[in-house]
Amino acid sequence: MQSLTDIRNLLEVRGLKPLKQFGQNFLHDQNQIRRLVEAAGIEPGDRVLEIGPGTGALTEALLEAGAEVIACEIDTGLADLVADRFGDQVQLVRGDCLGQGRRLSPDVEKVLGDAPWSLVANLPYQAASPVMIELLMHQPGCRGQFVTIQKEVADRLLASPGEKARGPLGILASTFGTIERIGVIPPSCFWPQPKVVSAMVALRPLELEQEIDRQAYARFGTMLFSSRRKQLGRILGRDRRLPEGIEPSWRPEVLTNEQLIALFRLD
Ligand code: SAM
Repeated sequence: MQSLTDIRNLLEVRGLKPLKQFGQNFLHDQNQIRRLVEAAGIEPGDRVLEIGPGTGALTEALLEAGAEVIACEIDTGLADLVADRFGDQVQLVRGDCLGQGRRLSPDVEKVLGDAPWSLVANLPYQAASPVMIELLMHQPGCRGQFVTIQKEVADRLLASPGEKARGPLGILASTFGTIERIGVIPPSCFWPQPKVVSAMVALRPLELEQEIDRQAYARFGTMLFSSRRKQLGRILGRDRRLPEGIEPSWRPEVLTNEQLIALFRLD
């Protein structure tokens, strides 16, 4: 268990300071850490990817639950700290978890191999959406994601048709997965305290009855929502045939997943 004082000391003795550019807000609230590990339903021997172990507060809880931990840390000083603290209890990958084209780094992929795993992490804010979408869309070995993220990102993931926060992120998450809000986390649970509220969510992949070209569908969603204020007729062209029940005067955010897929298939 790492208290706030432990985390401060661990950094101080190494001459480290929390770095904003790497989204370093350390989660020091033990109840929240426990809640995240419980939500992930870790059984002894389960393989877990932790992106950004930091000082290792969550890593410790994962190891206590019996997980086999693969951790990826971008910050050299923190990677050294993790290596010293956990030795070969943790398979550590040093560097950015995302590589070219915001795909999962080949170094991380290599360590993960073919056996199933889940993501359990207090994600750095700037990498949260690309990481979650990459794992959902392109990593079939990932059986679930249990993460803390900015509440605003959680709201976008959970947005229903017609809601203002509805956009490509929520469409992809709800087409290819199921998303559940586990709870809200106030800034006081982190050090340094972020300016925004956080949320804990679970994203689990869904088996589709009929597979679709995921990358093309993601591009289609991004295209539609890049002009979200416009009506479908303006975005797609007046002559464009629309599936039955969809009107050219509608705006993209009112479309359900089924309607979006029907529209995509007619493209
Ligand atoms: N796991 C720790 C905790 O719960 O307190 C730290 C979480 S902190 C929000 C985010 C961590 O991710 C930091 O350790 C940061 O250095 C690391 N990080 C940031 N960007 C990263 C990236 N692209 N790849 C790997 N690690 C990253």
